[in-house]
Amino acid sequence: MPAFPSDVPFAPAIVADRDIALSYAVDSSFRPPVPADFTVVRARDEADVAAVLQEAQAHGIPVVPQGARTSLTGASCAVEGGIVLNVEHLQGIDIDPVEGHAWVGPGVVTAELKAAAAEAGLFYPPDPASADTSTIGGNVATNAGGLCCVKYGVTADYVKALEVVLPGGARMRTGKRTAKGVAGYDLTGLFVGSEGTLGVVTRARLALLPAPEPALTALATFPSLEAAVGAILALRADPHRPCLLEFLERASIAAIQAIGDYGFPRDCDAALLVQSDRPGHAAEDVQRYAVMLTAAGASEVAVADTRSEGELLMQGRRMLNYALERKGNRLAEDACVPIARLADFVHAGQDISARTGIEITLSGHGGDGNLHPSLFFDDEPGSWQRAEAALDQVLQAALDLGGTITGEHGVGTQKRRHLVWELGAAEIARQRAVKAVFDPAGIMNPGKVY
Ligand SMILES: Cc1cc2nc3c(=O)[nH]c(=O)nc-3n(C[C@H](O)[C@H](O)[C@H](O)COP(=O)(O)OP(=O)(O)OC[C@H]3O[C@@H](n4cnc5c(N)ncnc54)[C@H](O)[C@@H]3O)c2cc1C
Repeated sequence: MPAFPSDVPFAPAIVADRDIALSYAVDSSFRPPVPADFTVVRARDEADVAAVLQEAQAHGIPVVPQGARTSLTGASCAVEGGIVLNVEHLQGIDIDPVEGHAWVGPGVVTAELKAAAAEAGLFYPPDPASADTSTIGGNVATNAGGLCCVKYGVTADYVKALEVVLPGGARMRTGKRTAKGVAGYDLTGLFVGSEGTLGVVTRARLALLPAPEPALTALATFPSLEAAVGAILALRADPHRPCLLEFLERASIAAIQAIGDYGFPRDCDAALLVQSDRPGHAAEDVQRYAVMLTAAGASEVAVADTRSEGELLMQGRRMLNYALERKGNRLAEDACVPIARLADFVHAGQDISARTGIEITLSGHGGDGNLHPSLFFDDEPGSWQRAEAALDQVLQAALDLGGTITGEHGVGTQKRRHLVWELGAAEIARQRAVKAVFDPAGIMNPGKVY
């Protein structure tokens, strides 16, 4: 561990127990490397964050900002050692119903903010599937998406202002405290999705919406991918767009049905789950969606009349992650393509699977064109490497279709080598130059993104 003088102000926040410290060394990515030499600081407040960043800058020590460690890309691992700066203790939710916002500490768990907003009759829409554990700081730093983006957008759409501590310990404020404001560059947007490479977010001002109605659900199965994608395009064009539009293809449906009967027919090529939460009109919306799904070629459509019936229809989707995990070792991936190219992307993944012999499932947030390919491998020598090579082809296919190598999970360590495929060397150089403005010594989350 880097040795610190006993009088550093954050000394009481250093985790002394090696086993506890080790649990902070890695995130939820596949086989993250455990650093040899690192210190965990569980900041008690903003002053601890500033003191750590001052000390780190003075001695050129890497700093890895960290929330709940649910990152799937290695972004919150201390790959180069140094200081793991965990900010889960930085709490606080201060809701202002007149401004329609909340000031939130970075350690607040996403689901806790959603519950606090609901208690105030308001709504914080971003809902990553990890919402019960991930933190607001992590969500801001990864620009987290989730299931309801098709109607409500991603975390960036709700971040109005930030308080940040920069390397060296300087405090910085981005954005505005008012409903409107256009003075200066949008540095809030720069920090959202920056994966801890610029500074540490210590407070966020997040927009809240009026609470919607509890969602109602329809489930449709399709004899072809093209029919399912046709339905997605029609639903997106509806004047009252669904608040959830999830896509499952044949292999994902088979994985779900392998763990229990969730009501999917085995011989369908695709399924869609569709929800409306429009106040006063959810029932009418799902009935209209059902007509549209049938017109697009659905072989079966089930509409839930109540929220609890809807939960039953959603159960299979909620089991997907577990079902895929049970199948064995996998790369749990993320790519996004223009929505109209979704069927092409799924076909490309299936072709890559047939060519390489690597089993690949492709399901996810169909309404956004954002799928989570899973690539399976075993413990035989070379199997993981073959899955990685197949992943390269899947990501290249997404790029060839006009898409991106990551829709919501970010770059971290795992997609560093793919980033240049998407951005090109000149753009990477410009982005590095921007990073250097905030982090001239390069201590913030090194080994990630760039
Ligand atoms: C089961 C599961 C489901 C998931 N589903 C989704 C999903 O639907 N949508 C989605 O987008 N993601 C999803 N994820 C990925 C992950 O949950 C998100 O990226 C989440 O935003 C990370 O939050 P965290 O608190 O765990 O952050 P961490 O993993 O601790 O950190 C993530 C990144 O944020 C940085 N960071 C954390 N806190 C700060 C801070 N205060 N200041 C500056 N940088 C900071 C870290 O350095 C790191 O780069 C899922 C993960 C799992 C395990």
